[in-house]
Amino acid sequence: EGVEKNAFLPVFQPKVDLSTGKIVGAEALARWKLESGRIVSPGVFIPVAESCGLIGEIGKQVTRQACEGAARWNEMGFTDVSIAVNVSPRQFESDDLGAMLINAMADAGLPPRLLQLEITESVAVTDPDRLRNVIGPLKSMGVRLAIDDFGTGHSNLAMLGRLPFDVFKIDRQFICNLHTDKQAPAIVEMILGMAETLGMETVAEGIETKEQEQFLRRRGCDQYQGYYFSPPVTLDRFIEMVKENRRPAAA
Ligand code: C2E
Ligand code: MG
Ligand code: MG
Repeated sequence: EGVEKNAFLPVFQPKVDLSTGKIVGAEALARWKLESGRIVSPGVFIPVAESCGLIGEIGKQVTRQACEGAARWNEMGFTDVSIAVNVSPRQFESDDLGAMLINAMADAGLPPRLLQLEITESVAVTDPDRLRNVIGPLKSMGVRLAIDDFGTGHSNLAMLGRLPFDVFKIDRQFICNLHTDKQAPAIVEMILGMAETLGMETVAEGIETKEQEQFLRRRGCDQYQGYYFSPPVTLDRFIEMVKENRRPAAA
């Protein structure tokens, strides 16, 4: 009973440039708003929606609203603030994905260079040809592609280099263990080194502390998101944050 119009909506988590402290984008994260007003998290409804075939409709509602939001801040003059949308493996199985994304951008008036798609490693690994076919036309329009939760899947490194990815999102599990475990910092450094070699951008997920922020900044990670800067917020709040963030500091 969740498929009524816009029962699923995005909240926006800021992504921040580690060297300048500027907000450079947001990730759209789905929320399900029940009639009672209660909000349900995606960890609960995405797996169910995937198995019962509703993921396409939910993805469409969230993507369209995310594109509308980004078009709004673009028109306000924040023309370098991007929007990232999560696309689940199941959505790649449908032939409508490309058209859905193109229509969402066109209807919202969003320049394609501002849209980023986040996909997990599993899609890339299980069906690279399909990924290339779906993503190819979008990439040539300027849409960018990120690997989400990087480091947790079973990436075939040879294949990764040949796929059209622009961004690695370093999984939160490595970030939250940065200062408690010996392996996590080594893994993060390895991912940053690999990204540099491949010419890819890096985003660290789930930064909660000053120490984590510092570690990543000193090692040249490009961007981060996490509760340390902000949890996901409403569109209006996100736009307020961008405005405050861009205001020159008082002398
Ligand atoms: P994800 O894409 O890896 O998103 C990051 C998750 O980490 C989000 O959880 C976010 O709220 C949470 N997070 C961000 N910063 C912090 C932090 O500092 N500490 C902690 N502990 N958590 C943080 P959320 O919103 O519950 O989303 C969970 C997952 O659900 C997402 O993981 C994504 O895989 C999926 N998802 C969310 N929205 C959509 C959607 O529209 N479509 C699809 N297909 N999947 C979605
Ligand atoms: Mg994501
Ligand atoms: Mg992630």
